[in-house]
Amino acid sequence: MTAPTPLIAGNWKMNGLAASLDEARAVAAGLGGLGDARVAICPPATLIDRLRQAIGGGPVLLGGQDCRAEASGAFTGDLSAEMLADAGASLVILGHSERRAGHGETDALVAAKVGAALRAGLEPIVCVGETLEQRQAGEALAVVTGQVRGSLPPELAGRRFAVAYEPVWAIGTGLTPTTAEIEEMHAAVRATLREMFGAAGETAPILYGGSVKPSNAAEILHAAEVGGALVGGASLKAADFLGIIQGL
Ligand code: PEP
Repeated sequence: MTAPTPLIAGNWKMNGLAASLDEARAVAAGLGGLGDARVAICPPATLIDRLRQAIGGGPVLLGGQDCRAEASGAFTGDLSAEMLADAGASLVILGHSERRAGHGETDALVAAKVGAALRAGLEPIVCVGETLEQRQAGEALAVVTGQVRGSLPPELAGRRFAVAYEPVWAIGTGLTPTTAEIEEMHAAVRATLREMFGAAGETAPILYGGSVKPSNAAEILHAAEVGGALVGGASLKAADFLGIIQGL
């Protein structure tokens, strides 16, 4: 059984212009002593190729934030997994709550996109997470494990992927679950991965996401079954992102 390799990924969301390349350069320059941990930046797709030119081949991996399931076709404005890979991405975030809520993405659609990512050779980071109403109703564990079952297709067995547990109410709010709540959820996600993929379900890191910052990173990253973090706002500034990575 191989232990999960930690991953810390920055999700820049719809933030970043050419001037932001310096932040990524500063992250690449500031990394050291990572061990076997991996660091990724997922910028807007417009910056992937420029980031490849700026820091490609270095310690920072590049990722997309979404892709369409089809490889090509008449889908104005959309991007395929192949296009992201062609631009220099090696990972892709899929099923982020801002896509599930704002673009009506279902578990089945997320699973199709995961299949597309694998087809293009990208490592999917599949996001799951409950809303505040669902947590208050005592439904969090059932909602999240249901999303894991519905969003992860069988072809992930034997492939490299990550799951990101991101409570919707913790994203961009400054709120975080307690360490005990994070550990409870990550244990439930791990048990679900084991049921779905057997021993292969042990190797995928389960990231925590939602208001991770330098001051809370070490405690979160050392919680049981936390295999890294998906970081939004705090990944936009190199100093903050590096401060989180130091919590490993
Ligand atoms: C996210 O949107 O993936 C996220 C974790 O955001 P933030 O860190 O800003 O809460």
